[in-house]
Amino acid sequence: MRNQVGSVQIEVEGPAAALDQFLGELQSEAPTLSRIEDVSWLPIPSLGERKFQIKSSDGAAAAQVFVSPDAATCPDCLAELFDPSDRRYRHPFINCTNCGPRLTVIQGAPYDRERTTMGRFAMCAACRAEYEDPAGRRFHAQPIACRDCGPRLELLRSDGQPAGPGDPIVQFAAAILRGQIGALKGVGGFHLVCNAADQRAVGELRRRKHRDEKPFAIMVRDVVAAAALCEIGPAERSLLESWRRPIVLLRKRGGDAVALVSEAVAPGNPSLGVVLPYTPLHHLLLAAVGEIPLVMTSGNRSDEPIAYLNADARERLAGIADIFLLHDRDIHVRCDDSVTRIVPQQAGAGQELPLRRSRGYAPQPIRLPLDCPRPVLAVGGQFKGTFALGRERQAFISHHMGDLDHLDAYRAFERDIRLYEELFEMRPAAIVHDLHPDYMSTQYALRRATDEGIRRLAVQHHHAHLASCMAEHGLDEPMIGVTFDGTGFGPEEQMAGQTAGQSGGEPTIWGGEFLVGDYRGFHRAAHLRPVGMPGGDKAAREPWRMAASHLIDAGGDLSALAARIPAAELRAVRSMLARRFRTPLTSSAGRLFDAVASIAGVRDRASYEGQAAMQLEWLASELPAESSYHFDIEATAASATGNQPPPMVIDTRPLIRAVADDAARGVAANRIARQFHSTMAEVIGAVCERIRGRAGLSAVALSGGVFMNALLTAEAERRLSAARFRVYRHRLVPPNDGGLCLGQIAIAAAALAVADGKSEE
Ligand code: ZN
Ligand code: ZN
Ligand code: FE
Repeated sequence: MRNQVGSVQIEVEGPAAALDQFLGELQSEAPTLSRIEDVSWLPIPSLGERKFQIKSSDGAAAAQVFVSPDAATCPDCLAELFDPSDRRYRHPFINCTNCGPRLTVIQGAPYDRERTTMGRFAMCAACRAEYEDPAGRRFHAQPIACRDCGPRLELLRSDGQPAGPGDPIVQFAAAILRGQIGALKGVGGFHLVCNAADQRAVGELRRRKHRDEKPFAIMVRDVVAAAALCEIGPAERSLLESWRRPIVLLRKRGGDAVALVSEAVAPGNPSLGVVLPYTPLHHLLLAAVGEIPLVMTSGNRSDEPIAYLNADARERLAGIADIFLLHDRDIHVRCDDSVTRIVPQQAGAGQELPLRRSRGYAPQPIRLPLDCPRPVLAVGGQFKGTFALGRERQAFISHHMGDLDHLDAYRAFERDIRLYEELFEMRPAAIVHDLHPDYMSTQYALRRATDEGIRRLAVQHHHAHLASCMAEHGLDEPMIGVTFDGTGFGPEEQMAGQTAGQSGGEPTIWGGEFLVGDYRGFHRAAHLRPVGMPGGDKAAREPWRMAASHLIDAGGDLSALAARIPAAELRAVRSMLARRFRTPLTSSAGRLFDAVASIAGVRDRASYEGQAAMQLEWLASELPAESSYHFDIEATAASATGNQPPPMVIDTRPLIRAVADDAARGVAANRIARQFHSTMAEVIGAVCERIRGRAGLSAVALSGGVFMNALLTAEAERRLSAARFRVYRHRLVPPNDGGLCLGQIAIAAAALAVADGKSEE
């Protein structure tokens, strides 16, 4: 047996039946963290060998190209952790080749102990023996440690002084049970922890963290404890218990379960984000607090990046945490918890819909449907930043970098790109970025391409969304891309030519788009009717602005809005709309959700991104499917681009008038919300049918941040399937901008293949 770059060569001999069995078990009995892409074999002459032997790798090929994601404590280590006779009994850093930190401790390539943050801990003789025993579970487990040689815990008070003698975990647990707020060092960063059942503690955490209503995740001991709080199907259960250990959004149970978690944890939200313990430290802590669920939220103030260095955490979290549980195993790569949910399907148990793909998933590659002939770096968008490296048939997608307008997040983005290039031994031959000139990622790409003389490629935002969904499904064919998002940031500036007809030369911000295309190109087949977005980004935080805009556009009356919004503010917005001052046009679907939420009286101001749209989804989920509001589909008079017909426009005015009428008649908000969701699904179905009529395409990709909405996703899928479309939605990367870099890689791969073909001619 011998390791080669990305592959293992095995020589076995024996009777044919035994060899067949070996081939089968190679796949069926593969270790948790292994990923077998492909097995090929050929017969060779028997050597009559009797012994198992591992041959050392060839020098140049020795680099371990595959870096594993961080993995939750495995069942074997867990058993040892609570076994008083084991030498690692209650050791908070127990791990083996099947579990433990990986990406987050790596400082360079190739991956071995010296180039991890475990490098400064010299192995004791007992650990060394396990590390070198090929038959054992800890053979070459780089973060191997024990009580004698491994990292140590440290418990500090908020003033930085040691918290006195005794077991740090037991003391920390006692502080939490007394209602204090703790800072706990995890795998990819710090968490803030408190008793989730304690209304006062949760409220205090919100006040100190400056976080008004955005839901907190909770950690419970096991799946039984989770099932006491939330509804859990088989798909949810296996996600909760998987070694990736994401935060899973689960539907709260009613009745007695409500009392076990304070309403302040996720106010007004029918769902709870739940995660099971994924480090030995978590297991020991949860055992110490008993049946109590713990709030486990990122260690930061407001929307800053999560703290991950000890000194940084002690400084930034000093005004928030009463007590700090730290240790001296450094985190090198900041990596937030992944967040995911299950979306029901027409048949079967439902499928994963990733909302944030980070710890436990990154940097696992996604297989590309086309060959990426040379190494490519894709830098993604601006918000929910991720980057990717592509080569041959693989795209290595980074952990979540956060919003790049935070300097700290941007610095990590720059540094971690270089780290990935080292780990995967790739010098990019091309850099691909969004068309938006103001994205920090775009500026990085421009600078680096110039400095290093690397070829550069700009990709339209919604084209990248479409390509991202296609790529994860292994598709390479022309299709319809329903790309709905709502950040208010689009690639529109450069694309303004197509919509100049309605906007008097000003750009339209995209976000409610029906594209037709593949990796090589696209055209805009239809879009939502553009309306003004008064104040630009401010409209995303104040849904009532979009309500005013849509109501004026639809000829509706503003009296209901006037009763809730201060007169001066409303007057200012009306004047902005009339004069088109700081009021770009937008076809954003996300902003349409905001407008409807405000008109229906659900929410006029959002305390976090997407709050109004989410509330609309929650309300709609209370009721069964409704009939749809009226809408019109019109072909525009705008000039055709190229030889494509001009895009159809979905006229939302009848819908807006109907919502306003219902609200005025006192129809309950959940009924309006439900009917609006049915309408959006119907819009998607009807427009796709028109496009099929023109273009003959019957495959539809659903992408963009709006499709984080599980109800809309499931309903659109149902509507399209009933009309015999093949429907594809995200299962591997998020539909939001966190998935953009995958689409960028696929588009760049296609462009490079074309360019290479031309240069050969
Ligand atoms: Zn283990
Ligand atoms: Zn040891
Ligand atoms: Fe987007």
